[in-house]
Amino acid sequence: MEYFADRDRLSRGEATVLDRVNGSLTRINEHQDLNAFLHVDSEGSRQRAAESDERFASGLPRPLEGMTLAVKDNISVVGQPMTCASAILKGFRPVYTATSVERLLDAGAIVLGKTNLDEFAMGSSNETSAFGPVLHPIDPLRVPGGSSGGSAVAVAADLCDVALGSETGGSVRQPAAFCGIYGLKPTYGRISRYGLTAFASSLDQIGVFSKTVADMRAVFDVVSGHDPFDSTSVVPPSPRQRTDGPLRIGILPPETLAPCDDSIRRAHDDVVEQFRRSGATIEVVTIPHADIWIPTYFILATAEASSNLARFDGIRYGLRVPEDEAEGDIITASRTAGFGKEVKRRIMLGTYVLSSGSYDAYYRKAQKARRLIADAYTSIYESVDFVVMPTTPTTAFLRGGITDPVTMWLSDYFTVSANIAGIPALSVPVGHDAQGLPIGMQIQGPMFSEELIFDLAERMAAQQ
Ligand code: GLN
Repeated sequence: MEYFADRDRLSRGEATVLDRVNGSLTRINEHQDLNAFLHVDSEGSRQRAAESDERFASGLPRPLEGMTLAVKDNISVVGQPMTCASAILKGFRPVYTATSVERLLDAGAIVLGKTNLDEFAMGSSNETSAFGPVLHPIDPLRVPGGSSGGSAVAVAADLCDVALGSETGGSVRQPAAFCGIYGLKPTYGRISRYGLTAFASSLDQIGVFSKTVADMRAVFDVVSGHDPFDSTSVVPPSPRQRTDGPLRIGILPPETLAPCDDSIRRAHDDVVEQFRRSGATIEVVTIPHADIWIPTYFILATAEASSNLARFDGIRYGLRVPEDEAEGDIITASRTAGFGKEVKRRIMLGTYVLSSGSYDAYYRKAQKARRLIADAYTSIYESVDFVVMPTTPTTAFLRGGITDPVTMWLSDYFTVSANIAGIPALSVPVGHDAQGLPIGMQIQGPMFSEELIFDLAERMAAQQ
């Protein structure tokens, strides 16, 4: 089911939105074992579907009329709970709707429900959710990736047309690659963060999952744009035009690709070869300090997380351990009971790198490293149009297969630099490994080049 393939039929009255929505709800029900959804709004969805059918019948459908959408459960939607997959937010109901969701609703989309994630979007496997792991749609013994695993699976298993996720260091692209679909991390500031639960505000962006580039483009057109409620949201300077002449593709040097499995390396080389054959020039580019991408990300992300998550104190939101049961104060007892292990690890690490004795040694250094990485990208985009690289070093790994947190963090090796630099990147499905597990390559471009990235992804899809 691809939205734009069905839209013509909806316009001609050969299909109804209500049937499509009912079909999705049935599939969601049949695939409960995947644990992709934390909340499903069946009644609200059917009601909206009936309204969409009326709009089609009256010949006035909106741009995304009847498109089915799943929303990661760290993005607020009024009328539905929001847990961030954490026990500390159990029972919380947001009082306003995220701008991105509001815009999709205004364009006619239907929010089927809220999807599972790693607790507070911290993780790469969807195993840190307080409500159980999400299973990979092809092999239930494997992870779907994270942290937006539920949204990725909802799209990949055809439970909905498109989904929103969030990206701090790869949480849309990595699960998109593991599940064989498209996953976009936009330029920092292009999609409003209003209504997204903050993890690391200087890196966070809402991202999009889709099965086709056409669906991706349509959703991006609707959700992107300035929002007065988000002071970091921006008006793009002017639509970026491609320079004349052959396409210039940058690729990473072999030593930077060293952590990749053979299947990923082969897929990468095939994609590069295809570009070469279609007339593109290929240039090896060096984004310096590949060895510090991950440490830089984890110092910045945990520092910001330790501050952002201070608001979950058992007083203002969600879980509160009652005074007579609390050992010590309510705040400590509620946070101890409400947060999971990975979240606590991040808060402790973040508090440590911000403490007076470590600030200069870690946090300030990471800020400097961030500048170096961002500057390197700026100069790279003077000589190439895009940089193409694998989204992940491996395909989907086994659940429980990675127990050491640092090894888990390394699965974000290729994704974090785009968040550090604030540039857009799209993970594109390009094939499968010998076990039939999907492989994703990402196209990274300069700031505000999303539309050009979509053009390139469309060309790649046409060549496959
Ligand atoms: N996997 C990364 C982490 O654990 C990225 C998470 C994200 O992008 N939200 O922090």
